[in-house]
Amino acid sequence: MAVRDRIEVLEQPAEQRKNNFNEVALGYNYDMAKEEAKRCLQCKVPTCISGCPVGIDIPGFIREIVKENLEGSFKILKSYNYLPAICGRVCPQEVQCEGACVLSKVGKPINIGALERFVADWASENNVQFENTEYSKEIIIKNNKKRVAIIGSGPAGLTVASELGKRGYQIDIYEALHEFGGVLIYGIPEFRLPKSIVKKEIFDLEKLGVNFLKNIPVGYAIPVHEILEDYDAVFVGVGAGTPKFMGIPGSELNGVYSANEFLTRVNLMRAYKFPEYDTPIRVGKKAVVVGGGNTAMDAARSALRLGADVTIVYRRTEAEMPARKAEIHHAKEEGIKILTLATPVKYVGDENGNLIAIECVRMELGEPDESGRRRPVFVNGSNFIIEADTVIEAIGTEANKFLLSQFPDLKTNKYGYIITNEYGQTSIPKVFAGGDIVTGSATVILAMGAGKSAAQGIQKFLED
Ligand SMILES: Cc1cc2nc3c(=O)[nH]c(=O)nc-3n(C[C@H](O)[C@H](O)[C@H](O)COP(=O)(O)OP(=O)(O)OC[C@H]3O[C@@H](n4cnc5c(N)ncnc54)[C@H](O)[C@@H]3O)c2cc1C
Ligand code: SF4
Repeated sequence: MAVRDRIEVLEQPAEQRKNNFNEVALGYNYDMAKEEAKRCLQCKVPTCISGCPVGIDIPGFIREIVKENLEGSFKILKSYNYLPAICGRVCPQEVQCEGACVLSKVGKPINIGALERFVADWASENNVQFENTEYSKEIIIKNNKKRVAIIGSGPAGLTVASELGKRGYQIDIYEALHEFGGVLIYGIPEFRLPKSIVKKEIFDLEKLGVNFLKNIPVGYAIPVHEILEDYDAVFVGVGAGTPKFMGIPGSELNGVYSANEFLTRVNLMRAYKFPEYDTPIRVGKKAVVVGGGNTAMDAARSALRLGADVTIVYRRTEAEMPARKAEIHHAKEEGIKILTLATPVKYVGDENGNLIAIECVRMELGEPDESGRRRPVFVNGSNFIIEADTVIEAIGTEANKFLLSQFPDLKTNKYGYIITNEYGQTSIPKVFAGGDIVTGSATVILAMGAGKSAAQGIQKFLED
């Protein structure tokens, strides 16, 4: 049987979008969504479901689109995934649901992410609410006496809040920053994930009675022992937001940023709207971004939109880049250059302490490392210079060790991430954890999946 072509989503043209922060992918209209939904073979044993970390009934929600029952489709989605408008936009579908779709063997897989986004956006535009009828009034009233603290409002914490909130628990969610959403707010830029969408999905949680507390860095503004004393259970979902640095000569020069600082200024503080918003950002004419993950792509594409000519420097080849394929494609379309098999070894400054150039060295791929990817090794004597007045290091992040050290007897692994069982329970029985603080930097949907399991663990702990 011939497989019909996949319906591609509408997009802002590259020439236009590189001058603005508006969303790049414009999604489907209703006709396009129906056409794409009709391509789904409705497999008896759907492999796509096993590719989704939260096991969404994918053929089920797609079937309802074909039947023009968008409300029914939304209910199916929302019963598995509390943040479908977000996951539909940022999941690395090529290695998750779409990578597991049978059509990917003979042509292009169903555009599951775009269909999920379409349904979620439709529900939001039409003010369709997801009513939770799963729990009886008795269960909700009984649970209401139990208090759970959630530390961190990223996708992991938000998922625990939604799962336990709908079961009637009293939830306080503590967030260090002045806005909720974790990386969804301060990391992923507006042109990939509009903040209005994140806020809308979070607003739905407030309706469940979840108590949102902002500007409270736990362990600093409030001691950990107080949280442990005051609550029946605690969920730690603080992510892995501490940036790693190259630590090479010249790191102190003006123009050297961590991606964390750069993206926080741009996204959380809206520096791209300076002076309407009062946080400035300085991007010169030639920016270099070091790294190959989503963070590197986001930083590079933000710097481009702020007027710089941008080169990404990555120590492996494009095939090993961990970023979503769509972002690499979009970055290239927008004119960002990618220099592979190279890494900076020194930043060079002028007499005023401003970055003017980067000394790099060529790399080649050696034996595979523990991640299975071939390890990059230096090619001796291959040093060369790139002119640059801005460099953004996006080489990874790690756990906040100070916060974790305040939990008595909390076991962590050799990388400093929290050790848990499959239900997110840590070495302290009433403390659960999930998301990047357990796995290291991963994905939104994996953090949500961990939040779901931890919510089950907390429920079992409190109800047994
Ligand atoms: C720039 C960037 C782009 C990304 N792009 C994608 C993508 O396209 N697709 C994808 O699937 N994944 C992407 N990721 C990864 C994804 O965002 C993370 O895996 C996910 O957000 C982890 O969720 P989390 O809830 O564990 O933590 P986070 O999202 O990191 O949230 C943790 C929250 O805890 C708060 N916090 C920390 N310490 C404290 C404290 N002491 N007290 C109170 N609050 C605290 C933080 O302020 C933060 O709000 C990206 C990550 C980055 C950085
Ligand atoms: S949540 Fe992510 S992995 Fe699951 S179906 Fe949606 S886009 Fe695919």
